[in-house]
Amino acid sequence: MANRGRLFVISGPAGVGKSEIVKMLLKRHPDVSLSVSCTTRQPRPGEIDGVSYHFVTEERFDELVAQDAFYEWAHVHQNRYGTLKEVVRKQLDAGHDLILEIDVQGCLQAMAQDPTVTGIFVCPPSRENLEARLRHRGTETEESIRVRLNNVAKECATAYKYHYIIIHEDWSVRPDALEVAADEVYAIITAQRRTLDRNRAFLDDLNESLNA
Ligand code: 5GP
Repeated sequence: MANRGRLFVISGPAGVGKSEIVKMLLKRHPDVSLSVSCTTRQPRPGEIDGVSYHFVTEERFDELVAQDAFYEWAHVHQNRYGTLKEVVRKQLDAGHDLILEIDVQGCLQAMAQDPTVTGIFVCPPSRENLEARLRHRGTETEESIRVRLNNVAKECATAYKYHYIIIHEDWSVRPDALEVAADEVYAIITAQRRTLDRNRAFLDDLNESLNA
């Protein structure tokens, strides 16, 4: 029987570049899949329903919660976001390794309910760097930058609960910082694929044939 896929949860503070890292990972390594979450927030320009997110109403989200359809869900910045159990089950059953790019609360829920989940936390190289990145976006007010920095402090304090820490270097220090971070995530996925546990069936067959 083919191996079941594994779940990798990736999180980190807003502005650290985690979605860019995940996009780069999928581009460079198409054998990894990304789960599409449900959210109650409004689509941003350019976002496509069913691709970026499944955009749902508050009522629909309530229904999904009542049906116990979520693998995990959380309130993030006044909206709700959740990963559907069905999406996770289908991908893992098909033997695909699946990435969830979700907030810290969701990652902690996932790691608590399943010890086979691998947690990856993306850190900025420094506070100064993160602040500069948030300002550079140009979409945040001074007040929202202050609120976000406070949240970052809380989020980084949870990083000790993850299995792996990735530092997203500044591109001015390392022009290929995004590629490096994406390849480091892929190295973690590869290491998981090479564990004895995931290769036991193969080894059993090999040894059986060698001893025949
Ligand atoms: P955005 O609205 O900017 O796309 O995402 C806001 C935050 O929600 C990000 O930190 C993102 O990782 C998180 N998020 C996206 N999907 C999910 C999900 O399914 N569950 C949880 N817990 N967080 C999510």
